Amino acid sequence: MTSVLPTDLTVQDLDAALDGFRAAVGAEHVLTDAEQLREFRDPYWFAGWDDYEASAVVQPESVEELQAIVQTANDHGIPLWVSSQGRNNGYGGSSPRVRGAVVVNLRRMNRVLEINGESAYAVVEPGVSFFELYEAVRASGHRLWISVPDLGWGSVVGNALEYGVGYTPYGEHSANVCGLEVVLPSGELVRTGPGAISNGRAWHVYRRSFGPSFDGLFFQSSLGIVTRMGVWLMPEPECYLPGWVMVPRDDDLGPMVDTLRELMLGGSITGYPMILSPVAAASVFTDRAHWYQGEGVLPEEAIERICSELGFGRWTMRFAIHGDEAIVDHRFAKVQEAFGRIRGANVVGSPQEVIEKILFQHEVFGHQRFLMQFSVGTLPHDRVMRAIELYGTEVAPVVRREVARRTHAPAPEGAPAA
Ligand SMILES: Cc1cc2nc3c(=O)[nH]c(=O)nc-3n(C[C@H](O)[C@H](O)[C@H](O)COP(=O)(O)OP(=O)(O)OC[C@H]3O[C@@H](n4cnc5c(N)ncnc54)[C@H](O)[C@@H]3O)c2cc1C
Repeated sequence: MTSVLPTDLTVQDLDAALDGFRAAVGAEHVLTDAEQLREFRDPYWFAGWDDYEASAVVQPESVEELQAIVQTANDHGIPLWVSSQGRNNGYGGSSPRVRGAVVVNLRRMNRVLEINGESAYAVVEPGVSFFELYEAVRASGHRLWISVPDLGWGSVVGNALEYGVGYTPYGEHSANVCGLEVVLPSGELVRTGPGAISNGRAWHVYRRSFGPSFDGLFFQSSLGIVTRMGVWLMPEPECYLPGWVMVPRDDDLGPMVDTLRELMLGGSITGYPMILSPVAAASVFTDRAHWYQGEGVLPEEAIERICSELGFGRWTMRFAIHGDEAIVDHRFAKVQEAFGRIRGANVVGSPQEVIEKILFQHEVFGHQRFLMQFSVGTLPHDRVMRAIELYGTEVAPVVRREVARRTHAPAPEGAPAA
């Protein structure tokens, strides 16, 4: 049994509220055991840190159960904290901001209520994870894409309400929400937009309504508990081209961002990009001690080694282009031309272009190994295999020959003896 209490409340107050919660959702869905609560704290915390500990977790299965929980909490003055999947790890997990609050966790409300292929949207309950929505869309047979964050275990609702992001053109998740159902702190239920009209059929396709819109009140706030959300889905594009750009010098970051802005505003890059430093990229494959065992920040020399040994640029950017094939080809040509203005920027392109860029990087770094990440996500397997084949048969032999020639070339006249 937990020993944590909400501020200013007694054990008797909490017990009375817990009895009310048990009556609402069933005793097995009210968690108070310290072992059960462990899952609902941020796993990155130190073991003994209990500043943001919950007193209990309640898991309703329906809107009516949730309304009963809110009513009980009001009756006993219990602070509530909401999570959907409650896996916002690294940002506090599902731990409450107010110590001793009761966590209302919505994992059991996990139905995909609708997938509309014609108008390209889904309607979900808060516990639906990205994995579950993906499976449901696949099972529906509609050629629609969902936009996911790096981890698929979180909920579509929790992520969008926290302004989460993904990588497709629909990657600003809050911008693709349409129509909410919300339990207010009073326990009342509201529906936003046309959802408020009885028999309204435009709830999840049209955001406005008569009078003011108030959907925004429920994003990054504690002003209501969202129980249903419409989310727009992206029709599968004819062509999807993921790409990487690497620049060899630290000073190239400014021009890289300027070029990216120009390409995004112009519509040539359609997905949400990510720019990685070599240290962030190396942390995916290796640990810090591999590069440096001293105190403080990594020295320049270690960062140079990461770039040359792992084959990353000094800055590395992931981007994507979506659309009909002819349009994607045209946009890719613009991307190549724009980044080509940064000397040594390595944009994935034809084998000859890649050869030239790797060799220029070799001029700068003198590296002996080159690592190329082909695709994170959805590039079809046969295309990945074809890219690997091109690297092996067309790029690597030429690069090896040229590097060997450079290494063994006689020193220029007048050069000091080694
Ligand atoms: C390694 C790693 C990589 C990550 N990558 C990404 C990424 O690429 N993009 C990204 O956006 N995030 C990322 N995250 C953060 C996080 O995992 C995701 O955002 C995840 O989708 C959060 O979902 P959740 O259901 O666990 O959120 P929850 O913990 O359930 O909710 C988050 C917050 O939203 C509010 N909330 C939740 N549900 C409701 C509701 N029904 N009504 C009202 N308010 C509610 C609450 O304040 C809650 O604390 C990453 C995390 C890690 C650890």
